[in-house]
Amino acid sequence: MIRDEKRLAALLATVRRFMDEVAIPNEERVERENAIPEEIVKEMRRLGFFGWSIPEEYGGAGLTTEELCLANMEISQCAVAYRARSGTNTGIGSEAIIHDGTDEQKRRYLPRLASGEITGCLAVTEPEAGSDLLGGLATSAVDAGDHYILNGTKRYITNAPIADLFTVLARSDPTNKGGSGTTTFLVERDMPGLSAGPEHKKMGQEGSPVSEVYFKDCRVPKSAVLGGTPGHGFRAVMRSLNKQRINLASLCTGPAIRLLDEALRHARTRKQSGQAIGEFQLVQAMLADCKVEISAARALILETARKRDRGEDVTMEVSMCKYYASEMAGRVADRVVQIFGGAGYCEDIGGSVPRFYRDVRLFRLYEGTSQIHQLNIARHLLRGSH
Ligand SMILES: Cc1cc2nc3c(=O)[nH]c(=O)nc-3n(C[C@H](O)[C@H](O)[C@H](O)COP(=O)(O)OP(=O)(O)OC[C@H]3O[C@@H](n4cnc5c(N)ncnc54)[C@H](O)[C@@H]3O)c2cc1C
Repeated sequence: MIRDEKRLAALLATVRRFMDEVAIPNEERVERENAIPEEIVKEMRRLGFFGWSIPEEYGGAGLTTEELCLANMEISQCAVAYRARSGTNTGIGSEAIIHDGTDEQKRRYLPRLASGEITGCLAVTEPEAGSDLLGGLATSAVDAGDHYILNGTKRYITNAPIADLFTVLARSDPTNKGGSGTTTFLVERDMPGLSAGPEHKKMGQEGSPVSEVYFKDCRVPKSAVLGGTPGHGFRAVMRSLNKQRINLASLCTGPAIRLLDEALRHARTRKQSGQAIGEFQLVQAMLADCKVEISAARALILETARKRDRGEDVTMEVSMCKYYASEMAGRVADRVVQIFGGAGYCEDIGGSVPRFYRDVRLFRLYEGTSQIHQLNIARHLLRGSH
């Protein structure tokens, strides 16, 4: 649902200006320094990028799902690290608070997440709990009177090295292996017993820091229990991830759009056998396949977003979006490397193409692997709930 076409157009124009004037010219610097320079983060804060999905009453823009998808498709046309910097605040680092937080928790955290003053993250995955989040969950939360004591290790947590607030899933009832034996906690960085490990050395997405998080007899007050009552942790996390799947699908679409732009530029200017390579029909076929798949992903995402905004159940559809868009981005990146030839493989010649090729590989792994989404989709189909 788009509430006000003019306001949305102005927002998208702001994002486009930021990309053209700030983000894209600094992409190589971000890769080299493996960080978004602080002055650029400041600009992103000033432009309101951290608050897109946070309700207006807490200082955010309160974007609808459709509006957020359109904004995400725009911002993700520059290096992935930019949107990852603000993306936890507009996604997994705030979503559980928006939907399940107490009024006090919302008042305490959402305005600062919306302004970008603090950075949020979601700490769910563990060394033994990946796709099977619940079965492998080993982080424990022991009720110790007026507080809980957390122990455990989280792995691959986006923005953990710089985060101020951790939304953490833990098992609070060791006798209950189901979702109702879990609780989600809002843990502030300076709570004694919480520490982040060194950054994982990733194959792409330089500038987006990811690390382990350790809880060692970490004392958290009872007021840190998301929603105020234990036993609802897994449900709250799944609700956030459900929303995140459509966010992520739109974030897969932006890099594909950018890659096709790069491919078109190259196809028009690179000459072989006396003609632009774009005149070869086999190259044209690759360009056409990219365009068809990008448009299909965009249409599926926006249709699903509108359904979600109407309050319909889109559990299966968000899996379809995430699965299709992430696989699509991989195929587009692969074709564009092909169109670039050797330049697509050499970082010093191919510009952003080799970098995007590495960056988009992650999309098929996190927020549910492709296989987990295939299973979700098939489960709905076989149940007849589609
Ligand atoms: C850079 C990065 C950032 C991340 N950010 C975050 C974050 O911010 N917060 C967070 O909590 N997590 C985060 N993750 C974790 C991510 O969500 C997990 O890596 C992902 O869910 C997969 O879990 P796994 O790596 O343990 O793989 P596994 O679950 O071990 O899967 C390995 C393979 O087995 C397949 N498989 C597993 N189970 C099944 C099954 N039942 N049926 C069929 N196939 C199956 C998978 O599809 C995959 O191919 C991040 C990961 C990375 C790499």
